[in-house]
Amino acid sequence: MINRRQFIGAGAAAGAAVVLPACSKESKVPVLPLQDKNGHLLWQNWSGLEHAYPANRAAPATAEELKNLLGMAPAPIRAVGAGHSFSGLCASEGTLLTLDNMAGLVSHDPVTQLATLKAGTRLQQMGQLLADIGQDMLNIPDINKQSLAGAIATGTHGTGIRLPALHGRVESFRMMKVNGDELNCSPTENADIFHASLVGMGSFGIVTEYTLKNWPLHRTERKVDIVPFDELLRDWEKLYLNNRNAEFFYIPFTGIAARIVHNQTMADATPRGPDKDMETLMDLKKLRDYLSWSPSLRRRVAEALAGKHGTEVAVDYSWKLMASERSVRFNEMEFHLPLENQMAALKEVVAVIESKRPDVFFPIEARVIERDDRAWLSPFYERDSGSIAVHAYYEDDHKFMFELVEPILRKYGGRPHWGKLHSLAAADLEKLYPKWKDVQAVRQQLDPQGKLLNPFLRKVWGV
Ligand SMILES: Cc1cc2nc3c(=O)[nH]c(=O)nc-3n(C[C@H](O)[C@H](O)[C@H](O)COP(=O)(O)OP(=O)(O)OC[C@H]3O[C@@H](n4cnc5c(N)ncnc54)[C@H](O)[C@@H]3O)c2cc1C
Repeated sequence: MINRRQFIGAGAAAGAAVVLPACSKESKVPVLPLQDKNGHLLWQNWSGLEHAYPANRAAPATAEELKNLLGMAPAPIRAVGAGHSFSGLCASEGTLLTLDNMAGLVSHDPVTQLATLKAGTRLQQMGQLLADIGQDMLNIPDINKQSLAGAIATGTHGTGIRLPALHGRVESFRMMKVNGDELNCSPTENADIFHASLVGMGSFGIVTEYTLKNWPLHRTERKVDIVPFDELLRDWEKLYLNNRNAEFFYIPFTGIAARIVHNQTMADATPRGPDKDMETLMDLKKLRDYLSWSPSLRRRVAEALAGKHGTEVAVDYSWKLMASERSVRFNEMEFHLPLENQMAALKEVVAVIESKRPDVFFPIEARVIERDDRAWLSPFYERDSGSIAVHAYYEDDHKFMFELVEPILRKYGGRPHWGKLHSLAAADLEKLYPKWKDVQAVRQQLDPQGKLLNPFLRKVWGV
């Protein structure tokens, strides 16, 4: 977003007597080890916060192989996609199961724009597969590294008030129960199982394929600019009503935010170019490291930076354009609130961080998501939602999210993102989900012995 020369130059322009050292080692993508220091093979999630030593790892390539291994796999049996969830959803000391070998396009219909894909397909791969048949996903999240099953199982979403989360476009799916039986699930076949387990966190069975309703391949224009936060708060409703996709990242302690909109276009492609995410975040980190002793100076340098930043515009197919590279690792909490509460909650979150946590430098993200009635565990179930996401650099303390941020988001009626950090247990969740008891009944029926549940999920389900 902001280039490094501009950043340093802007510091001088602001009259700040500060020399911010150039990024060096910090600019490298940290690679997480595959073994612990004793040489034991370990599994870690993307941020490195969660880890486990599974007794058994499996990568079936067919439904037959999956069925055979479910018969003898030690519990808990946890499916893992790309391991991009921040919470303890996937960790297993029993069996860790990847569907990486069950990926690809199964069939499609050019008239209805339906496509059936294997559950282990990564979203990035899916973009190309769909483009080859003239289709595209209706909406794209912030990254495209996830597996299709992992993304749908946690209610993964992009932004757009007339666009549902990914699961909102699932017409049907095929799932293998823990006893090896296979089920087709849709609103007309095994309907209760469809609604209960569509956003199911791998607690109901192993999904092997999904049929999605897509839309025709099209080009999108992306616009990014830096604006005063106050202006954004004032105009937010207009912004999300007037653009297909609208979101912003408020940069704490600066009074400014990056505003991002995407809209359909017929214009020729002018690709986005390399992502500046790492550079920008490392500069924000330096601003924190060197100037957090003086909030006013931190703000002035940031404002000067903003003054130098023009509007960035790019045009491309949306599957190529909309997802970003996030090479700086972080931990994240995101809640989905009734839309009308979003800005009030955001103001409180910003106020508490800026008064108590000068160490926070990662931007705070706001998006909007259309309601759906398909998945009983959808955080957007029967309500249009505004989301708020707070991040912490992976090496920094993230506990402030639980102590300071989560109480605010809960006070405003927020439902947690299933793949991100939260502390809610069954008794809390029951109050947020009107179909909670029905969901529990279906889960109990499909996996009566809880073979799919690890300790994190036992807390979620209260068993
Ligand atoms: C950098 C980054 C950016 C992100 N951006 C967004 C964003 O823009 N929007 C958003 O909503 N979220 C976002 N997320 C969160 C992410 O989309 C979710 O956590 C998603 O679940 C990750 O997909 P995955 O394939 O890594 O799944 P995993 O984390 O591996 O698994 C997630 C869940 O899916 C289950 N699962 C996996 N495969 C199967 C299967 N075959 N059958 C049944 N269950 C299965 C697992 O058991 C687990 O419960 C982001 C995460 C990161 C790290």
